[in-house]
Amino acid sequence: MVWTARGATRILGAMGERVLIVEDEPELNAMIRDFLSAHGYESECVFDGAVAVRRVFEDPPDIVVLDLNLPGLAGLDVARTITSQTTVPVIVTTARGEEDDRLGGFAAGVDDYLVKPFSLPELVMRIAAILRRGKAGRKAAGRDDAVVRVGELRLDCDRREVFVGERSVRLTAVQFAILERLARSPRRVFSRLQLLESFQPDAFDGYQRTIDVHIKNIRKQIEANPRRPERLVTVRGVGYRLQDLPSEVVR
Ligand code: CA
Repeated sequence: MVWTARGATRILGAMGERVLIVEDEPELNAMIRDFLSAHGYESECVFDGAVAVRRVFEDPPDIVVLDLNLPGLAGLDVARTITSQTTVPVIVTTARGEEDDRLGGFAAGVDDYLVKPFSLPELVMRIAAILRRGKAGRKAAGRDDAVVRVGELRLDCDRREVFVGERSVRLTAVQFAILERLARSPRRVFSRLQLLESFQPDAFDGYQRTIDVHIKNIRKQIEANPRRPERLVTVRGVGYRLQDLPSEVVR
């Protein structure tokens, strides 16, 4: 923990990144929000696990700060759901003495944990560290590059070309935009609205079903059997995601 003389040194690198705060104690929730806001982060505050999961799927934040001890849906289940179905990093907070929960938290794939009462500057430093690591990882994985690879799929985003193995496939501009959005975050689940926004920034709910038509047409091009998709799969009740290891999914 590092408190500076001014107490609220701005952590470099916070550029409006969004933090989802999941904490059922209203005062603590507000304290975290205010502190993050003073350090350049945007926050969204939720107070129970079910809402947290819904918000992560609807509008993925850059990171989640998750209290493990929540009413309703347990924090650990929330952590598992988020880490297994999205690439959003999670920091859990636990009360002192909940060591089992902490171990469980790591088993659930969380990125870090803090024991309450924790220091807010330390929370901010850990958030910044995880987000920095994420950026470096994406760069190393080439996800900001012009060529994106996901399993056998290869997208050349400058030339707007798509290959499945050695085979070149034709996509329309809209289909390409949707596939690129999915391919830049493999395994992450996107809602229909999020995919719609990849080519129509002012999209609204009413048009969401048009995505299903585009998905169907993309599948015709990239799936061996479009009726049994192995790459671009449906996540029931949520949306779609692109698998990076199709051979492991279909046995
Ligand atoms: Ca709590």
